[in-house]
Amino acid sequence: MTQRISFSLDATDGKARTGVISTPRGDIRTPAFMPVGTAGTVKAMMPESVRATGADILLGNTYHLMLRPTAERIDRLGGLHKFMNWERPILTDSGGFQVMSLAGLRKLTEEGVTFASHVDGSKHVITPERSMEIQKLLGSDIVMCFDECPALPATEEDVAKSMRMSMRWAQRSRDAFGDRPGHALFGIMQGGVTQELREESSQALTDIGFDGYAVGGLAVGEGQEAMFGVLDYAPDYLPQDKPRYLMGVGKPDDIVGAVKRGIDMMDCVLPSRSGRNGQVFTRHGAINIKNARHADDPRPLDENCTCPACSQYSRAYLHHVFRSHEMISGMLLTWHNLHYFQEIMQGMRDAIAAGTFAAWEADFHAVRAAGDIEPL
Ligand SMILES: [Zn+2]
Repeated sequence: MTQRISFSLDATDGKARTGVISTPRGDIRTPAFMPVGTAGTVKAMMPESVRATGADILLGNTYHLMLRPTAERIDRLGGLHKFMNWERPILTDSGGFQVMSLAGLRKLTEEGVTFASHVDGSKHVITPERSMEIQKLLGSDIVMCFDECPALPATEEDVAKSMRMSMRWAQRSRDAFGDRPGHALFGIMQGGVTQELREESSQALTDIGFDGYAVGGLAVGEGQEAMFGVLDYAPDYLPQDKPRYLMGVGKPDDIVGAVKRGIDMMDCVLPSRSGRNGQVFTRHGAINIKNARHADDPRPLDENCTCPACSQYSRAYLHHVFRSHEMISGMLLTWHNLHYFQEIMQGMRDAIAAGTFAAWEADFHAVRAAGDIEPL
């Protein structure tokens, strides 16, 4: 693979952007939503079904894969694409965030993080260099810098200290990544909710130079208002001609608000995890399929949705299989949720290209505000 990953910005509407990230494994239409394939699978979905929802790219979690089955084993078996039967692009996170949220007995130093596996207690070390090595072994198309995201609440001083270490780690990640045609390395902006720190972090990253830039340290419990507050200015510090990725977002209205503010890529476990928990997202807002009101309802979740759950099954059936703990429940509801999230992305891409994003957004909010269809 010698083709370099490139980004073409095709249209803008306000701050919202649409374009294409071209990779040797296929194009990624932006704004893009990436389903999360935590441990080598988007839970409850076959890879071809994930593709059928409209996903161009998946996210894989370095932390989970390095512990089980290990990056070295995946490499021996031909890399993550072959291992999980997904030939299109894969973005891997750096492992840093999940070390902080899942692992035990963490010790953080300038060198990196030492931690105990949540699977078997075994001891591991991730440094920027090791994170680059693991993501290379996995065969990731878009590699993320190893960074640290301070636990909230944190003082501005702690956020600044952490951000500056992440910037030194970004340089080490860049050096360790080297030159790998066909693969991209993204830097991650930190700085909490402080504008000066976000600006300093963006400057440090653009001085190093990356193929794309993530806005990190958001969607960690600060709330939508605080997140949008940062997104009102943070994307403006990043280069126009590179993709911008908001990590770990989010609910449908978070996604729309982020794209409106200039974000090109997002990922979240929400559509898949919620699907397994009986939580459904439609144009009309959220539905809990567990509720008794659906037990006798022969209508689909959303009469306009073309996914298998909506085109072939009733609310009554989906309610029954959820209550009965049948596996098809998680399968169908995950499919619907992923389909709906991709429909939002397609709607936004079309609206930005047509210069009608504001009207699209107004309609999105109006239909949601009207709520779910009346019970029978
Ligand atoms: Zn559907």
